[in-house]
Amino acid sequence: MFKKRILLLTASILTLMMLVACGGEEATGNSEDNNGKIQVVTTYSIVYDIVKNVGGDLVEIHSLAPIGSNPHEYDPLPEDVKKTTDADAVFYNGLNLEAGNSWFDNLMETTGKNGDHAPVFLMSKGVDPMYLTSKGNQGEEDPHAWLDIRNGIKYAENARDGLIKVDPENEEVYKENAEQYITKLKELHDSAVEEFNQIPEEERVLVTSEGAFKYFSDAYGFQAEYIWEINQENQGTPDQITRIVDIINDKEITGLFLETSIDPRSMEAVAAETNVPIRGTVFTDSLAKPGENGDTYISMMESNIKTIKEGLE
Ligand SMILES: [Zn+2]
Repeated sequence: MFKKRILLLTASILTLMMLVACGGEEATGNSEDNNGKIQVVTTYSIVYDIVKNVGGDLVEIHSLAPIGSNPHEYDPLPEDVKKTTDADAVFYNGLNLEAGNSWFDNLMETTGKNGDHAPVFLMSKGVDPMYLTSKGNQGEEDPHAWLDIRNGIKYAENARDGLIKVDPENEEVYKENAEQYITKLKELHDSAVEEFNQIPEEERVLVTSEGAFKYFSDAYGFQAEYIWEINQENQGTPDQITRIVDIINDKEITGLFLETSIDPRSMEAVAAETNVPIRGTVFTDSLAKPGENGDTYISMMESNIKTIKEGLE
């Protein structure tokens, strides 16, 4: 960890030296040099998309953890350090999402974004946190709040409030964008409730690799089961596999689900062991690549609703 921080600092100093060498006034975080756009950094693709919907053409966003990756752990690149140093605003999930290997806190410290008045905004502000229960993780906040679309609405409100704070001149635009976007999210939440209500309640059991569906299950009346509770280094261990195999057999579960941002091998092993098929792949911690189905928060949730509904029918 200490080594990592030194590396980050070195990268930051190098970046600053390069900027000075180029006569860069950019290092002050002033947006004047960037076509007047507000320079934003987001920690991963889902926060990126929500902020983009609220910021529209007024913002230019650099997102950190790449699409398809797991944002629990990330090693910022020199470019990330530069963009974060220069950013007018940073948006992050919180609830422990970016806490693996302390990458986010270290980055905020390295880039001078760690002060009380730093323009760093918590997307999950106002969310009622749910907590992890498995051994070694008890009492830690579960980060996956966005899988309940009502929380996605809170994220959009927090994006709006953060952008207004750094760019008050455009308050009306951010309010208008947020209002339109939130209307769509409300419709999406209502349609999810309607779709899932068509599945008998006792059949609403969702088995995934990571236990990412606590907030989702609470919102849409599911029971969530998993191989491991939260993405970390030791996942898909023999003990974890044995545990979920027993649950699947006990509860007579008929379908399993994979996640797009997770190595499929553990769930494939569970499917082989139980003879219960994998019914589909859901989005949890990342959007799809641009142009693919699931490349926005709305499209990823639409895809999840369809996949889960069809998979449990
Ligand atoms: Zn996750």
